[in-house]
Amino acid sequence: MKYTRNAAERAHEILRKRRITAETEQRDRSLIAFSIAPEIKTMLGTLDKKRFELLRSIGSGNASTSEAVYKLRDETERINRSISEILVSNGFSPDYIDYHYTCPKCHDTGYRDGERCQCLTELLNKLTIEDLNGLCGMKIHSFEEFRLDYYPDEVIDGDNARQRMTVVYNNCKGYAEEFGADSDSLFFYGPTGLGKTFLSSCIAGEVMKKGSSVVFFSVPSLFSQLEDEHFGRSDSKTMDILMSADLVILDDLGSEFRTKFTESKLYEIINGRMNLDKPVIVSTNLSIRDLHEMYNERLISRIIMKFAPMPFIGRDIRQILRINSVK
Ligand SMILES: [Zn+2]
Repeated sequence: MKYTRNAAERAHEILRKRRITAETEQRDRSLIAFSIAPEIKTMLGTLDKKRFELLRSIGSGNASTSEAVYKLRDETERINRSISEILVSNGFSPDYIDYHYTCPKCHDTGYRDGERCQCLTELLNKLTIEDLNGLCGMKIHSFEEFRLDYYPDEVIDGDNARQRMTVVYNNCKGYAEEFGADSDSLFFYGPTGLGKTFLSSCIAGEVMKKGSSVVFFSVPSLFSQLEDEHFGRSDSKTMDILMSADLVILDDLGSEFRTKFTESKLYEIINGRMNLDKPVIVSTNLSIRDLHEMYNERLISRIIMKFAPMPFIGRDIRQILRINSVK
């Protein structure tokens, strides 16, 4: 994945703050431990003195380096064991005065043995996806903002709209709360203005809050981005991001200008994610019949067979809001 420069800067800043926090907290804990068991401070002082002596004797050629290093290692282990015992006998955990880094592997530096640590890669992925979502201009909503009273308590297309949408709302909320690698793909369909984008963004917000990566694209803007990359006008790697994100949301399928390019990319995204067993949420204002007429059968059958269907019914909420504002 190609990372944005902003993501790289933010990732290093986050690591720097993690290091400062680990160091400050270690210092505070040490002061507490020293005040209760002052002998710990004395023992650490002895260890420092021995280290200094070792360096001096190696520097002056008075000691065999390997022998001195072994001796110091044994001594360090012995003193650390004693300190742990004193800590435990005073009611502390044995590692109370150690540094507690977020990533014990790289000590929050982001690098280990000259290689990038997994923690930095995860941060870069997450922040790059956030940047890209920022570029999409999607507004993230929360489930608390969702208004079921906008859906009429009447039968539309053979179903009570409010009851149907209560089920859809609860399913979406449950989906977001329990989101994980084995979550299903969802297919939102129904006429325009019924809250498909809104509920998608509620799911995105909740899933991101839990630390999973979400890519949210309106289908037309996704294709203009992919075309820019295809024709060398942008060096982003959107396909990589679409394959690696934990959840991909493709909003408003059918509103894009369709070409052979868009059709093949769409199939590549849906099929690629299905092969990786990674969930996708697709929403459309089109009817199932329109989809069959407009798209390749292979693509539509994948969506219909593999995605959990969520039919949205009601009256156009934007129109209801306009009428209410005039009243
Ligand atoms: Zn790390």
